[in-house]
Amino acid sequence: MRACEACGHIEALHTAPAVGVGTACISNKQGHPVLKGQEQCWCPRFANTVPEAFEAILEKGNRAALERGVRWALELGDSGMSSQLLSQLIISNPSGLDHEWLREIRSRIAALSGSGTIQASTQMSKSAKRSGLRPKSKTEQKRESTIFGAIKAGYTGPDYCRELDRQRLPVPQQWIDQGCPPTYETAYMRGSSSPSGRPWAKYIQDEKYRYRKSYDALTPAKRDEIIAKNARRTRP
Ligand SMILES: [Zn+2]
Ligand SMILES: [Zn+2]
Repeated sequence: MRACEACGHIEALHTAPAVGVGTACISNKQGHPVLKGQEQCWCPRFANTVPEAFEAILEKGNRAALERGVRWALELGDSGMSSQLLSQLIISNPSGLDHEWLREIRSRIAALSGSGTIQASTQMSKSAKRSGLRPKSKTEQKRESTIFGAIKAGYTGPDYCRELDRQRLPVPQQWIDQGCPPTYETAYMRGSSSPSGRPWAKYIQDEKYRYRKSYDALTPAKRDEIIAKNARRTRP
């Protein structure tokens, strides 16, 4: 059972044709199905990926969703998306936004989009290190080539997780230290019956989104070269 990346509600609630609301989410905020006349979730359509989630939030997100999106895009180092969402938040809530919060967010966006490593957040300088200031470790290389392979093959959701498990890609140690289950598929599904949703699914989608950005920046030949490294290692 997949949950929407934009609103966190399960897929079935986005597609129930009997209710006649197309693919818009029909769930209320607690994640329970609603009957006619009750409050509907703002979400316009099921989002299976992080970019789709940002699109949905930009289009229809309520204040809470937009605020969450702004911070989420910042965490992912996507200053462009963060400032788009922030503009939308300001347009749809012209008064009542916290000035302190706005100031902090604006300076973080400026730092991210500014001149690279000096102003960037710790997270960005970590990823700058990953991407070339020091050689990638074996584990990092394995992660990159496995995830690139799964992206190239078009895997999403639980299929994506199963593919990473099949390639014996370990879940990042930092996640396990925080209580994450040891395989991608179990991590992805953990919490699916709880109203607060699946905490690790977000980590997995965020990780995929970061790799997707570097994948998109490479030529097809370079992508294949990186993917081939993993194929060589896993050959029996
Ligand atoms: Zn929803
Ligand atoms: Zn949704």
